[in-house]
Amino acid sequence: MDDYKLLIDLHIDGTRQGPGGEAETNLAMTLAGLDRSKSLRILDIGCGTGASTIQLAKELDAEVVAVDFLEDFLEALKKRANGHGVADRIETLNCSMDALQFEDEAFDVIWSEGAIYNMGFENGIAEWKRLIKPGGIMVVSEITWLSETRPNQLQAYWEGAYAEIDTASAKINALERHGYCPKGYFYLQPHCWLENYYMPMRDRFPSFIERYDQNDESLAIVEAEKEEIALYEKYHSYYSYGVYVAQKI
Ligand code: SAM
Repeated sequence: MDDYKLLIDLHIDGTRQGPGGEAETNLAMTLAGLDRSKSLRILDIGCGTGASTIQLAKELDAEVVAVDFLEDFLEALKKRANGHGVADRIETLNCSMDALQFEDEAFDVIWSEGAIYNMGFENGIAEWKRLIKPGGIMVVSEITWLSETRPNQLQAYWEGAYAEIDTASAKINALERHGYCPKGYFYLQPHCWLENYYMPMRDRFPSFIERYDQNDESLAIVEAEKEEIALYEKYHSYYSYGVYVAQKI
């Protein structure tokens, strides 16, 4: 996808393409109460280069189907999975998250870190529900307000970037309205954003813009990322990714 060429280039060498962390993925597995002795079929939606996919395949007795609409990320995922010795437990699928063609109740678990906003939280949990077996699990991270009120500048930024941002209670309410029973919630601490995502990306800025001779497009991408990082550094006490663990009723 040519439109995404530069974004892919900036992100493909990252361990992850959004905030998160291994301990946090493990915590979500624990809150989900996944049976480690049972063979599970898991769908990881918006998997990127596979941070969570590979961890799920390593930690659980699981077959993981990893979905992303960027083939380059899926190719990188396969290489990384090989390196971790779990390639035989992972299948990749190049597909948009809003056009998944699996049969109803095909999966024990749906996992999606930092990706559901691409089709909207409520839309995503509604559409993906049919893919989960009754009693199965949804684990999804979603940008979340950490307090009831926040500064105007921040409110305006997020209203432009993702108007569906809301409090955890509103997200949990949406899960309940769509037929899920909430099993757990926590939010990502700053190291998940800074050490695990923003700082490694910031280290890649100089070589990235050099590869494109500092052209306008590469500079604009870096500027937008810098703005996002500065906003996070200033206002991180007001928002984060919430991690929601819920059971399909
Ligand atoms: N889950 C990964 C992680 O935490 O490192 C990646 C998160 S990244 C913020 C969002 C991912 O969603 C990207 O890999 C992007 O290619 C993918 N994505 C965006 N829109 C998509 C769509 N419509 N269908 C499938 N994947 C999509």
